Amino acid sequence: MSDNCQRYFMSKNEILNCAEEAFRDRHFCVYYQPQFNHINGRIVGAEALVRWIHPEYGMQSPGDFIPAFEANGYITRLDLYVFDEVCAFIEKCIKDDIKNIVPVSFNVSRHDIYCNDFIDEMEKIRKKHNVPVHYLRVEITESAVLGSNDYLAGIVDTFHSLGYIVEMDDFGSGYSSLNVLKDIEVDIIKLDMFFLKGEIGGRGGVIISSVVRMANWLATPIIVEGVETVEQADYMKSLGCVYIQGYLYSKPVPEDEYLKLLLSGRTGDAVPTMKIIDKLDAEKFWSPETFETLIFNYFVGGAGIFSYENDQIEMLRVNEKYVEEFGMNMTQRDIIQRRECFNFDEENRKIFIDTIRRAIQSNDEEKCETWRTVHSPCCGDDLICIRSNMRVIGRADGQYLLFVNIQNVTAEKKMYAELYESEKKFRTAGEHANIYCWEYDIDTKEMRPCARCIRDLGMPKIVKNYPEPVIESGLFPADYADMYRDWMKQLEEGADNLEAIIPLTADRIPFHVRYTAEFDDNGRPYKAYGSATLVVDGEK
Ligand code: C2E
Ligand code: CA
Ligand code: CA
Repeated sequence: MSDNCQRYFMSKNEILNCAEEAFRDRHFCVYYQPQFNHINGRIVGAEALVRWIHPEYGMQSPGDFIPAFEANGYITRLDLYVFDEVCAFIEKCIKDDIKNIVPVSFNVSRHDIYCNDFIDEMEKIRKKHNVPVHYLRVEITESAVLGSNDYLAGIVDTFHSLGYIVEMDDFGSGYSSLNVLKDIEVDIIKLDMFFLKGEIGGRGGVIISSVVRMANWLATPIIVEGVETVEQADYMKSLGCVYIQGYLYSKPVPEDEYLKLLLSGRTGDAVPTMKIIDKLDAEKFWSPETFETLIFNYFVGGAGIFSYENDQIEMLRVNEKYVEEFGMNMTQRDIIQRRECFNFDEENRKIFIDTIRRAIQSNDEEKCETWRTVHSPCCGDDLICIRSNMRVIGRADGQYLLFVNIQNVTAEKKMYAELYESEKKFRTAGEHANIYCWEYDIDTKEMRPCARCIRDLGMPKIVKNYPEPVIESGLFPADYADMYRDWMKQLEEGADNLEAIIPLTADRIPFHVRYTAEFDDNGRPYKAYGSATLVVDGEK
């Protein structure tokens, strides 16, 4: 019988009157709703959903009889019945050597967890059927928390100690979602699109994307339920949620139909959890009170955490110093919400993405420098250059979490660009005028020769401790060395022009050597330009 055919709704009394008989004659059966990876269309798991096939009234929906069962105490018996059916099914699959078995999630009612021996009963059933625990996932709802979170946290710990994966069902439906997530270590979050009624892109979209971002922070994968259209599925994919359970792919189907799906071989990896690198405890990192956060906020300079998937970059968290590096009077909110930090042109975007890809491959620190346009309401637009040092701190199926350290190197870059320009002019000038020329830095004693000096005399781009190396090499004659050293001293003391004819190189070729000094605003000499021109006949 299909899931949506006409049916007779039993009254609460009829439900309770027929319950004993239904258990005895096994009128309940389990439907399976497969869960898919929306990227490759493969099955990654299924949820077991109970159906009551009444011999006279037809199929009954759990939404109708479960509340009655909960009120009356039948629910725990039903859940163990369903669990037994699920284990029997998996046992059969294992015996039949089916290659593509995927985990099955089953619902645990809040009444079950207050029943002392519920987990013991489950374990008896599982062992009776010899089902490895990794084929099973427990679904609990946040409404299971009646009093404090501690009790549920203890139950979840017990499930974990037995090896079960635990899912938080209907996440976001309860008033205390965030609180629950903080205290209870679930492995997977199930997010139901129905709770977020509004249109995608409207309020519902904002809530969904916030929940997704939060789940990413906790490195917890999400399965989205109730996905009925391709648009919804694609939207969820754009947020990084690729595990989908909903009518778009499949309604809950009877066991034999589900088996056919498994046999079709289109199964994929089970929902993986994002793996955070060993030394980094992700949870501590997101908690405001931990040492990790202290370090993040105060000691690592400008730092941020961003996610990367399918060439999409999203900033998730930045510290104060990150904002300071950008300057321009922005806030952390501007950076994260208005995406001011990733405003690249195409070329710079490519550099950044290539660096991310390298970091993913190398699992090591990778660097790049990229120009970005930033806009702030107070300062308008500005083009700044950011040096980024990044490394991957978490990875899941195609999704990565990266830590980045940044430095604003705009001033440095501009200075280099200017220097490069002036140097280029200076070198070209020398080439044209048929002379050898160089720049001498009075403070650092560094000499920067022109292109011709480099080419004809084999000089390096920078000569340190000038003039000693050229004296040593014999380029500058030993008998003129002291005079030349004295010139450097005179320049230091403020001489503005010096000149003489000096025989250069081993061949003692006479050159006219000249110096012109440059002074700063305080009249202090800081640079001198030197030149050497071949002495033409008659000049001597
Ligand atoms: P649930 O655990 O949230 O299960 C998901 C419900 O959403 C299922 O309804 C499923 O058929 C429905 N659904 C899935 N995809 C779509 C979709 O794309 N569109 C629409 N409109 N609906 C979709 P179902 O099977 O009627 O179950 C209703 C609820 O009854 C379940 O909600 C669960 O809370 C409870 N339930 C079902 N089986 C069991 C069980 O064995 N034990 C317990 N304790 N509760 C159960
Ligand atoms: Ca469920
Ligand atoms: Ca659900």
